[in-house]
Amino acid sequence: MRVYNTLSRQKEEFKPISDKEVCIYSCGPTVYNYAHIGNLRTYIFMDMLRRVLEYNGYTLKHVMNITDVGHLVSDEDDGEDKMLKGAREQKKTPWQIAEFYTAAFMKDIKALNIEIPEIVPKATEHISEMIEFVEGLIEKGYGYETSDGIYFDIEKFDGYGKLSRANLEEQIAGARVEVNQEKHHPADFAIWKKAPREHIMQWQSPWGMGYPGWHIECSAMGRKYLGDVFDIHTGGVDHIPVHHENEIAQSEALLGRPAVNYWMHSEFMMVNNGKMSKSLGNTYTIDDLKEKGYNPLAFRYMCLNAHYRNKFNFTWDVMQSAQVSYDRFVEGCQAHKSGNEAVDIAVVNEFLSDFDEAVNDDLNIPKALGVAWNAVRYGKKSQQIFELLTKMNRIFGFDLDKKKEELKELEISPEIQALIDERQQARKDKNWKLSDEIRDELKARGIAIEDTPNGAKVKYI
Ligand SMILES: [Zn+2]
Repeated sequence: MRVYNTLSRQKEEFKPISDKEVCIYSCGPTVYNYAHIGNLRTYIFMDMLRRVLEYNGYTLKHVMNITDVGHLVSDEDDGEDKMLKGAREQKKTPWQIAEFYTAAFMKDIKALNIEIPEIVPKATEHISEMIEFVEGLIEKGYGYETSDGIYFDIEKFDGYGKLSRANLEEQIAGARVEVNQEKHHPADFAIWKKAPREHIMQWQSPWGMGYPGWHIECSAMGRKYLGDVFDIHTGGVDHIPVHHENEIAQSEALLGRPAVNYWMHSEFMMVNNGKMSKSLGNTYTIDDLKEKGYNPLAFRYMCLNAHYRNKFNFTWDVMQSAQVSYDRFVEGCQAHKSGNEAVDIAVVNEFLSDFDEAVNDDLNIPKALGVAWNAVRYGKKSQQIFELLTKMNRIFGFDLDKKKEELKELEISPEIQALIDERQQARKDKNWKLSDEIRDELKARGIAIEDTPNGAKVKYI
């Protein structure tokens, strides 16, 4: 298996530290809002990596953190805390906000059939590990105290910038205008912040009340669960220049050696060839897709159709054609299920070897999907082909058993829903005449209604 390592800018043969178990760390969500489809693309990539490793027989020890401590608006140290901003806007405590959006995120990744990593630690439950990490950096001379926090001295660390390949001058140019004149270098970053009184989330530390820097969260939790050195670290390309550069600096400074062997990053998702942003109103969520009648797995299909290292452009037209292709693919697979035509085993083996080659070549899932399509379209209908497709689907993660009819449930219009609700009320009121009239009206619109102990079930006729 070969993977592209951002650190070396090359595809490399994947050699895990242990023969059996692969240790992975993935930067998880900051839970102050709904994840948008661009965020979710990164987790679909993470899932592809998991599934290809499992397909190759590895077991996984995979950590994905939940950043429930507010970090700052930008990747730099200034700006308003994201969690606090969310809390203020929604009149809730940061803990309530974090809990709500963590549940929403888990629901989204479940809808996308993304495997949940073995360990999902919350930052707020690992403050003592972070403090210990900061103490270690101070002890080794990499951390220093200022009036507003503890900073990492990037000039003391030789390899700073090796992941993004930016030099220190570029880092300075990229750093924002500094308020804190006590920093040794403009690009030094906070590993611990002293909390102003109005900051809701704060913890006791050797430097008074405060809260951890975002970067230290990942370094500390990764080390706690995966040890000093582990195999793979994943994230989005937007993490490369600051967040991951800083994680590398912290971990290597403390350990005296690299903590991660392979760094893997997925590219951005664009919308209508531009950036996704709140002000443009194009930060779509899984619920937005569902409301328009799309199956989240059709979105998954769309993501699998683009290589994770290529930018991908989302439009509603592309979503529509992905839905059509996804349905055809699932139906095509199902058509083989009851087939009994004989297929030459050599043909099956060739499909499988092409598939294996594609997935093991830096997760070339679009190519693997192409091989699967060739199998779907193969001239003979055969259970052997179905078994092959089922095996391939261990990586794709589609719902091959799902009947298309069920998808139609998503398409109930508000008008129909109002009729269904009205009929339910009529039944409660024992107004059987009205209830029957509405049933007939629904029938005339092609909808059958069935009363069960759990309420009315709706079907298209
Ligand atoms: Zn991280």
